Amino acid sequence: MYAGEIPIPVSRLKGVGPQTAKVLSNLDILTVGDLLSWWPRDWEDRTVSTPLSRFAERKKIHTIARVASHDWFGAGRMKTLKLIIEDDEGTLAELICFNRPFLEKQFPVDSRVSVYGSFRIAYGSIQSSAFEIDLDSQLSRKVFPVYPLTASLTQIQMRKIISSALDSYAKGIDSELPQEVRSAHGIPAKHEILHMMHRPHRVEEATTAKEALIFEELYLFELAIGRHSLKRRGRLPAIDISDQSTEREMLDSDAQSNPLLPLQQRLAERLPFSLTDDQVNCILEINADITGETPMARLLQGDVGSGKTLVSFMAALAVIEQGGQVALLAPTELLARQHAEGAATLLEVLGVRLAYLTGNVRASGRKELLTRLASGEIDVIVGTHALFSQKVQYKNLRLAIIDEQHRFGVRQRAAIQEKGMEGGNGIPHLLMMSATPIPRTLALSVFGDLDVSTIRSLPGGRKPIITHLARKGNEGKVYDFVRTQLAAGRQAYFVYPLIDPSEEGSLKAATVMFTSLAKDIFPDYSCKLIHSRIPEDEQRLIMSAFREGKVHVLVATSVVEVGVDVPNATCMVIEHAERFGLSALHQMRGRVGRGSEQSFCFLIYDDKLTEEGKARIKVMHETTDGFAIAEKDLHIRGPGEMTGIRQSGYAGFTLADPVRDYDILVKARKAAFDYLEKYS
Ligand code: ADP
Ligand code: MG
Repeated sequence: MYAGEIPIPVSRLKGVGPQTAKVLSNLDILTVGDLLSWWPRDWEDRTVSTPLSRFAERKKIHTIARVASHDWFGAGRMKTLKLIIEDDEGTLAELICFNRPFLEKQFPVDSRVSVYGSFRIAYGSIQSSAFEIDLDSQLSRKVFPVYPLTASLTQIQMRKIISSALDSYAKGIDSELPQEVRSAHGIPAKHEILHMMHRPHRVEEATTAKEALIFEELYLFELAIGRHSLKRRGRLPAIDISDQSTEREMLDSDAQSNPLLPLQQRLAERLPFSLTDDQVNCILEINADITGETPMARLLQGDVGSGKTLVSFMAALAVIEQGGQVALLAPTELLARQHAEGAATLLEVLGVRLAYLTGNVRASGRKELLTRLASGEIDVIVGTHALFSQKVQYKNLRLAIIDEQHRFGVRQRAAIQEKGMEGGNGIPHLLMMSATPIPRTLALSVFGDLDVSTIRSLPGGRKPIITHLARKGNEGKVYDFVRTQLAAGRQAYFVYPLIDPSEEGSLKAATVMFTSLAKDIFPDYSCKLIHSRIPEDEQRLIMSAFREGKVHVLVATSVVEVGVDVPNATCMVIEHAERFGLSALHQMRGRVGRGSEQSFCFLIYDDKLTEEGKARIKVMHETTDGFAIAEKDLHIRGPGEMTGIRQSGYAGFTLADPVRDYDILVKARKAAFDYLEKYS
């Protein structure tokens, strides 16, 4: 039987009355199985004695010492006992026994004691008032598990309860790992692991057991991914998704013999530039999926400005060749509008019938649009999440493209796939795009079942963006520099963390700075303000004026973070840069450097930086490589905080952390896939 399957309620255990059972149920511990899988969050090592002189090395230390003397301080009811202890090195420490006068009798002078607690220096002595004390004995020299608890339960109680469960039930518990996997990876039997976790003889034993459990957890996770993939498309995903070199080589040689599809060819011929090799490879990978048997589920990743939009238009054409419909979903109205305009320029001339739908499209036009969509008179519909609301019916949705996928939650992605199935045409192909490169370490776990196409290199002829840091107070120099760029016919973005001034007023706000930039700093140029509270129609006019070069300076909030594409803009000035996350900074910097001119990014930061803020600015200064930045971001913030990861069901592990445990993850993935290969 597996631990999770033991149906015996905790109340059957010795020492667990109805009261305790209730407390345990608050922790979701209902059965003996739950209890045995309630893992210690740490272990206290009381097998070794740490000299008192080294008290600062750990939060709590265990030390064996002699009671040197007793002392009292305070008077009356406040009278408090002090035990003075001395360790083998002769270091003295004071144990302040608040409300524990009885310790005087229990630990007479010269008795040897085992003390576990946190120490600090107070009034010139090493002192502790939060400690556990016992007479030193074989029994007290143990490794104690430390459990996550609620207020109404003590460690001692929990240890007792779990220990009793261990004695009565551990023996019959089986490992969830197949025997052959266990022997290959040196994983102990489950009942041994349970003992090693809850009652280890040494801390190393607990560490080994914990690693075995992490392996088990990741193995089961990868097994599920493998099974799902086998079911969906009849094969396993690659072991290491970054290592698709064999597939890549094959496609490279195919590229000449297996050209683009006819409509794609026509689009390529009309472009003022040629597709990069990476773009061509991605298109061919996508074509193989779309003309194949199973629905595509592919992540197209490529740094900001690498030309993903064009690849997605090519994917749309592959589906249109087959008579299917395409929905292109963007996270903001601004970006949806830009895609619609891009599609109008590039696709309409090929005879593609296009529509644009957001929450704001007015009622009358909307109705007609929906009718045409339902009858199949529209090939491509571009919009925001309104595309997948109840009222919208497709005739034959065959491809959903999701731009900036990390902006959408899992539920929205599922809704999209269901939408396609409503028509009875099966699951539509799914192409997700991300300019926040998924660090390799996360890719394996979070997107374990997706195929990945990567655009590694930016289109030729681009110069790397030059990034300058400026301390608050030196803005003047930055403004002067921007003025020389404007004079040369270029354009600039200024980004602020707030729309309106905050109450404490220490941050610059877009509205206020707009006035000052427009009136005092760049009076000779046309400046416009854009943020999320400006009506959509107006935003659209401002954006097209900026795109056409009629507006020179765009003052904005982070609305310009995603997607906006204006190649003549060469300056990005971000004030209070310390306020933005790394991926936002990288995205915003990616708004420039899109044309052939040299571009610049200025990060203006406040002196009062947090360590994290400092680390982010440093990374931005050092590199423009989105993959490197994502990897750094992960290390600064930890995986739980990565954009979009939180909603993606990532946090489903109890002990494992796919980033920290990357090496184990790779082993577990291989073990799981090998097993599936052999037996299914
Ligand atoms: P992102 O990958 O960030 O979504 P876009 O798709 O917005 O990037 O493309 C950025 C810019 O690069 C656009 O102006 C686009 O027209 C241009 N572009 C795309 N492919 C190429 C190419 N092969 N050569 C030159 N410019 C390209
Ligand atoms: Mg884009």
